[in-house]
Amino acid sequence: MREALTYDDVLLAPQYSDIKSRQEIDIGSSLDDDLLLEVPLLGAPMDTVTESEMAFVLARHGAMGIIHRYNDIDEQAGMVREIHHALMPMGGTPPVIAAAVGVTGEYVERAIALCENGAMVICIDVAHGHHVLVREALYKLKTELDDKVHLMAGNVATLEAFNDLSDWGADSVRCNIGGGSICSTRIQTGHGLPGLQTVLDCAQSDRDTKIIADGGIRSSGDMVKAFAAGADFVMVGSLLAGTAESPGTLSTDGDVPVKRYRGMASKEAQIKWHGHYNSNEGISTHIPYKGSVQPILDDLIKGIRSGLSYSGARNLTELCAKARFERQTGAGQVEGTAHILGRP
Ligand code: IMP
Repeated sequence: MREALTYDDVLLAPQYSDIKSRQEIDIGSSLDDDLLLEVPLLGAPMDTVTESEMAFVLARHGAMGIIHRYNDIDEQAGMVREIHHALMPMGGTPPVIAAAVGVTGEYVERAIALCENGAMVICIDVAHGHHVLVREALYKLKTELDDKVHLMAGNVATLEAFNDLSDWGADSVRCNIGGGSICSTRIQTGHGLPGLQTVLDCAQSDRDTKIIADGGIRSSGDMVKAFAAGADFVMVGSLLAGTAESPGTLSTDGDVPVKRYRGMASKEAQIKWHGHYNSNEGISTHIPYKGSVQPILDDLIKGIRSGLSYSGARNLTELCAKARFERQTGAGQVEGTAHILGRP
């Protein structure tokens, strides 16, 4: 049996750099020829992470949020329209707007409505993407939607699944099963694989489908490792949750202001949206309120740029080509934290 690795198991060896200014570093990444993001960061389609306000702020930073699908069609299409209006007068490159659909019920009608209202990316959002219903949904949406619409799908944990989704028509694939901060899939089902390993495995693909490292990303350092392993984009939930721009109301836990963050397969979310629950594969919790997401995004973007400079890379392609991963021990991992804080 081989050993599968994740973010804390490895570090990137710093390398010679001739980059004199971080301004020389371009962290842009393309979903398609026409869909370029200046910042390769995606907001997860979750009801405590991405609605129009978060998608708007992400777009203004050059990133992209995916409007979640836990609403009726008019509501979700309205959010897509809202971002378009809010963003179009600002000029510059047109914003890339994305929204999620499922694989049953009215998903085709929903996808058509989203595209009619300005979505250019449709995310087929299910927990186990290597599935016949995802194959059927990809075939169906490829025929029903304009050729230019980018189809994202997932989630997958293996190269085989990545290649299948690619062959079924996915333009990008969300990689990682069971690694999210609010996820209990691995505990409930025994299935999943360490997140970085899935990215490393999917990067072996000979397809040109884009790789999205999704779930379990806690810092810009994790993001840089994901890009070095071959990811074209990272997708995050917890880093954006609990902010002013995330959906949900502010409450208090004792004296601490908090907001809700929950898995979409949690009992709480399923009961809210379906009135009952099937398997319970996520948790729901309060997290401390963080204020505006904007300084968080600024820091993440600075951290990614800095990460590229440590590998002497001017863009993500160079980073991936130059990256030299080393395994680390538990002691190495402790040394790599701000360890004065843990001293007795
Ligand atoms: P985070 O950035 O570590 O918080 O992970 C966010 C990711 O977790 C999302 O993009 C989804 O892929 C995944 N996810 C969301 N809800 C659930 C759930 O209820 N169970 C398992 N995974 C989930």
